[in-house]
Amino acid sequence: MKIKVPKEIQIGCHSHKVFLKDNTTSDFDGDAYHRQEMIRVEEKLPPTQRGATFLHESLHFISQIYSVTLAERDINSLSEGLGQLLFSDLGIELDWSEIPTMTATVKR
Ligand SMILES: [Zn+2]
Repeated sequence: MKIKVPKEIQIGCHSHKVFLKDNTTSDFDGDAYHRQEMIRVEEKLPPTQRGATFLHESLHFISQIYSVTLAERDINSLSEGLGQLLFSDLGIELDWSEIPTMTATVKR
C-alpha cells in the first residue's frame, strides 16, 4: 500500500513542513529544525532508509514537543523498529512525489 507523504505534518500544536534535500546541503541523511518547523530528508536514499529517516526526524520533534527524553540511540532504535513494522511487516510504501526538494542550506 502506497501512502503519500504529506507536505506538512502536525506534531503537538505545531505544523512542520516536509522537504527532500540534495546531499550537498548537509552531511546528514535528515535534519529536524524546530524553530523553522521543518523536516528535510535526503532524496537519494533508498526507499526504506528514506522512510526510516523521516520517522527518525519526526521522533526528534515528538521527543522535544512532548518532553520525552530520548537519546539519539533511542531515536535510532525506535525509527528502525517503527520502520520495520510499517514498511516490512505492513508493506507500506511512502510516496514522496508531492514533496518539494530544498537545495539551500538552513541556519539553525
Ligand atoms: Zn537524530
